[in-house]
Amino acid sequence: MAEQIREPAREERRQRERRGGAQSQMLRQIVERLADGIVIVGDDGKIRFANPAAEVLFGRKARDLVGEDFGYALAPGEHTEIEVVRRSGTTVVAELRLVRLDWEGEPAVLVSLRDVTDRREADERAKELAREQRARIEAEAASQAKSEFLAVMSHELRTPLNAILGYTELLDLGLAGPLTEAQRQQLRRIGASGRHLLGLVNEVLDLARVEAGRLTVHHEVRPVANVVDAALVVATPLAEERGLTIRAPADTMRGVLFVGDEDRARQILVNLLSNAVKFTATGGAIAIEVDVASVPPARARLHGADRWVEICVRDTGVGIPEDQIDSIFAPFVQVQGGHTRDRDGSGLGLTISRRLARLMGGDITVDSKVGEGSTFTLWLPAAAEGQTDEPPAVAPRLSGREPVVQGLTEVGEALLREADAIVDELVARLRREPSMPGAHSLRFTQLADHTATLIADLAETLVIIEDSRGEPSPMLADSAEIQRYVGDRHGAQRARLGWTVEALAREFEILREEIEHALHRAFPGESAGRIGEALALVRRQLEQAAMASARALERTHQEAAEQR
Ligand code: ADP
Repeated sequence: MAEQIREPAREERRQRERRGGAQSQMLRQIVERLADGIVIVGDDGKIRFANPAAEVLFGRKARDLVGEDFGYALAPGEHTEIEVVRRSGTTVVAELRLVRLDWEGEPAVLVSLRDVTDRREADERAKELAREQRARIEAEAASQAKSEFLAVMSHELRTPLNAILGYTELLDLGLAGPLTEAQRQQLRRIGASGRHLLGLVNEVLDLARVEAGRLTVHHEVRPVANVVDAALVVATPLAEERGLTIRAPADTMRGVLFVGDEDRARQILVNLLSNAVKFTATGGAIAIEVDVASVPPARARLHGADRWVEICVRDTGVGIPEDQIDSIFAPFVQVQGGHTRDRDGSGLGLTISRRLARLMGGDITVDSKVGEGSTFTLWLPAAAEGQTDEPPAVAPRLSGREPVVQGLTEVGEALLREADAIVDELVARLRREPSMPGAHSLRFTQLADHTATLIADLAETLVIIEDSRGEPSPMLADSAEIQRYVGDRHGAQRARLGWTVEALAREFEILREEIEHALHRAFPGESAGRIGEALALVRRQLEQAAMASARALERTHQEAAEQR
């Protein structure tokens, strides 16, 4: 009887064992396929088991891991993050989850590890972005306050100065009675100093207006010759007075057209020429040359045109020491060490000139050698063939004449919210893209690169444009600068990944499409108005970034080829 009872019980146990075996077989298969790393650690702290994902995470084979100390403190029920330094030296960040269990009849801890390196990096990037944004807002507030102070002060200074100059002239004319020769001399000195002071105050006011974004420039197609001729009318007598020769450009410049503001361009050129006169000793020479270039030097901050008009002012003067070349564009800076022979001047001329040039989408660059002379070059966008008076397609140069649709801020904010989704889509599409066959094996962070920063900046530009009602502003210029910088870094990184120009162009195309999708998602059914405006602005800015990126890519490829 006892036998009869025992028999079915044994059979049942056997069946249970078989089921158990099949179950643990299945469990093992699941564990082996899991994307998360799984490690079983015994109570002695030694690793008993590691799945393939854990092998990848630690960069070591399971057979090497088993029997080793796990090396991290384990408190079941806790969620923590650890940094795993692999043998190769690379680090991954893993999120840990712990569960107690029995393993082969002994108490143990199941540790699951999830690679969160990308997420951690994205968090850091978001924090960095927020920091940058805060710093920029603070800097903008400070600069705004400074500009307002300067503008008010300049006005307050100008009113009494004009009165002083007016009365000096009245006295000089003898309207208040006859003057002795000595009195007349003294009056002339008062007049000369007063005019000098007025000149300084006017420059300060100009600078304040540029800085506050209140100075606008025209974007019209104009002959370069108008600017050069007008500047020569002012500069030639000054040069002759000092015994300098001055050479006008060849007549080939007559047909050259630029896009910008004729008065402002003349103001810049007069300033460059009067500096050349001021800093060249008697007997020296000054020459103006005009040319059209398609590849400006990298140090010029240029964007938005394919071809550039360059107007060079060469002198055989004192030159500028190399370590001071960059600083002469800062307000109130004059070259140190007996260089400025004639103390006349404020150190503001170049600051204002460069800012005006940049408002027109151009720039000023310098080449100089102490004792030999200097060349200052004014770069301005060249008019395209057959171009008539059209503002060039660049966001920072939007002038008040363009209608700016309300509601760009909202679009910008939506774009910012969508940034992560756009980057995710972009990365997924790059991995599938046939023209980038290597992309599927690259890490998320490598593929995402600086894209989130670029999108954040595009979004911010929309907000700034609405805030400044389309007027050029220093913040807008900063945004454009950031985009160019990001584009540049991005191109260099893509070059290091071995991408071609075509692949890069395709990537920007995908990015543009994803931004468009995201905005259509955020504003369903809207296509004109603010969305149309925003999309057009984004498209133009992406073109600039793509251009900067392509230039950097080519440069990096070239440098690599030269090193070989
Ligand atoms: P300012 O001429 O009123 O002092 P700028 O901003 O025009 O102010 O120039 C700043 C400084 O740059 C000058 O004081 C001078 O030291 C240097 N500089 C400008 N142009 C030249 C030049 N052509 N040759 C040598 N030094 C120059």
